Amino acid sequence: MPWYPKMLEMDVLEEKLLKRKIKPTAVRILILRSMTAFEKAFSLTDLETELETVNKSTIFRTLALFQEQLLIHGIDDGTGSMKYSICHDDCMCRPGESHVHFNCNRCKNTFCLENIAIPPIKLPEKFLLERVNFVIKGLCDRCSPYAP
Ligand SMILES: [Zn+2]
Ligand SMILES: [Zn+2]
Repeated sequence: MPWYPKMLEMDVLEEKLLKRKIKPTAVRILILRSMTAFEKAFSLTDLETELETVNKSTIFRTLALFQEQLLIHGIDDGTGSMKYSICHDDCMCRPGESHVHFNCNRCKNTFCLENIAIPPIKLPEKFLLERVNFVIKGLCDRCSPYAP
């Protein structure tokens, strides 16, 4: 899975923000850096735990801004706690670009399966598609019987 390496360089983080038309303030860079270090989709609580020194409402507002500017995408994995993951640089979060997500029944982690596109869905006449949420439940590669 194409997870980001831990601790990207500052200028890479700054560029990621600028690409999405987000002013790269110190706290936004800090929050983005912590997001890139997760090896799974993260929740607001995960971020709050990682960023103990950052004001909670700042984290909340930054998360909303990042999502609005399509730097991250939200994942409703059916667990009741919203997860987020960083988008590819050229992702515009259009329905045709969405990928499948995977929620592990054992470790409870949620992953982006970025190489698996959501199959096209033919809706009945006069139905209009706005968003697709495709979540597979099962055991991840660390929890399944095939794990090393
Ligand atoms: Zn697992
Ligand atoms: Zn994803």
